[in-house]
Amino acid sequence: MKPVNMHRPSGDPAPARGSGRVVIVGGAIMGSFSAWALRQAGFGGSITVVEKDPTYQYSSTALSAASIRTQFGTPTNIQMSLYSARMFREIKRLFGDDADIGYREKGYLILGSAEQTAERLAAADMQRSYGADILVLGPDELRARFPGINFDDIGVGTLGAQHEGWFDAWSLLQLARRAARQSGVDYVTAAVESFELNDAKLTGVLLAGGQRLGCDFCVMAAGAWSGRLVAGLGIDLPVVPKKRTVFSFKTPFKLDNFPMLFDTSGIWIRPEGEGYIGGIQPSAENDADADGDFEPQHDQLEQSYWPALATRIPAMEQMRLQRAWAGHYEVNTLDHNGVVGPHHELRNLIFATGFSGHGVMHAPAVGRAVAELIADGGYRSIDLSPLGWDRIRTSTPMLETIVY
Ligand SMILES: Cc1cc2nc3c(=O)[nH]c(=O)nc-3n(C[C@H](O)[C@H](O)[C@H](O)COP(=O)(O)OP(=O)(O)OC[C@H]3O[C@@H](n4cnc5c(N)ncnc54)[C@H](O)[C@@H]3O)c2cc1C
Repeated sequence: MKPVNMHRPSGDPAPARGSGRVVIVGGAIMGSFSAWALRQAGFGGSITVVEKDPTYQYSSTALSAASIRTQFGTPTNIQMSLYSARMFREIKRLFGDDADIGYREKGYLILGSAEQTAERLAAADMQRSYGADILVLGPDELRARFPGINFDDIGVGTLGAQHEGWFDAWSLLQLARRAARQSGVDYVTAAVESFELNDAKLTGVLLAGGQRLGCDFCVMAAGAWSGRLVAGLGIDLPVVPKKRTVFSFKTPFKLDNFPMLFDTSGIWIRPEGEGYIGGIQPSAENDADADGDFEPQHDQLEQSYWPALATRIPAMEQMRLQRAWAGHYEVNTLDHNGVVGPHHELRNLIFATGFSGHGVMHAPAVGRAVAELIADGGYRSIDLSPLGWDRIRTSTPMLETIVY
């Protein structure tokens, strides 16, 4: 991977690049990082972020498990994670001494059966070739490192030795938002209802209440709402809301180096504060579009999560549920990857959405890419063209194989 220069600390002046009016739809992690990165890139025009709910209570960002991994099946995702992990390490330099996102590099431990071993070794080799630091561990090494976890049916575990772990997504959002505002980005509280077109150009964003914001560029960063929003433009963006429940619980089991653990059963668990959080991906037949439904799927706990957890970590048979919440993954049904870049006809409509459950970790890289597209007319640091609209238009998936 080509080394990428990080951003300048917020507040340092940048040489002016690019002008015009940018309107960003959605002011959570994707929208705020796009706005901040534009200013970092020296964009001299106006930037307005339109956010319908400044409490962010239903945004995926606020409801996320906020973890970062480099173990992906596609090189672009690995490169974006490495970019973000390096940024997280430098958070104080970039956002000030009070910046704290609670970044813990404790790794993702992804377990595989004996039959999956060859495939997992190949994935680790590929990930390493892009700069990820992945350890491949056999059952005995796993037992020695992680006592109390049952590895009897396991053939292999892969663990990120660095650049993987978790952080506080809410704090990260607040930092990006604060820095964007300090650099002259306007945040407007309103719902975008529709768009104004002239020839093959999006010329305005129309808000509930009748206000019009003229624009030279419009960035679509409305998360799980993005598909419906652009449907009004006749654009078929296959991004839909899928409900994911997170359980927060306490158990007497303690292990200092407990990583983010992905089990062969489909469950995940990681430490959070004094306890743990975890969840399980619903089966395809129980995964209808969520359509405004934020009710946690409580029955998952007894029916699938807890039995699988107690099998993997017998001491977790004893657990006390503290709370549960549900958020929406913004799932790109074509290939579970983000959509970044311009529409093929409406060239000034820039997508930054569809990250299917890995958007908080990738937002810093996506923001940078959006800024380069607008300020420089093309990618300069990480080439995100594999995530471009063309694959959606031509239904050519770039399948992400490591999906949780
Ligand atoms: C349970 C759960 C766990 C997750 N775990 C992880 C994880 O461990 N790691 C990871 O990287 N990612 C994770 N994700 C995914 C991650 O949260 C998302 O990919 C990411 O937050 C997407 O950010 P966003 O800014 O695009 O969307 P959002 O955070 O949803 O923000 C979109 C914003 O657009 C606003 N909006 C919508 N429509 C309009 C409109 N018409 N007008 C104005 N504003 C509008 C919304 O109010 C919202 O604030 C998880 C998600 C969930 C639900």
